[in-house]
Amino acid sequence: MKKFLSAVVAILLVTAACASVLASSYVGNANSRKFHYADCSMVGKMNPANKVFLNTREEAIAAGYVPCKRCKP
Ligand SMILES: [Zn+2]
Repeated sequence: MKKFLSAVVAILLVTAACASVLASSYVGNANSRKFHYADCSMVGKMNPANKVFLNTREEAIAAGYVPCKRCKP
């Protein structure tokens, strides 16, 4: 029974982690006004202070962000 419970907890944790990744699949740069896929290499080089997390492509464009030329979101 304990094994079953820990398996359920593990599944819930994985689901929560996936949901939080999906929640912000795009990252905008408040300085350059460009937006990227969250896994774009440029995101790693970005100043954390300039990162703006965006849920959808539409949200990014509505906020005035331009798609990155490297990852083409
Ligand atoms: Zn990019």
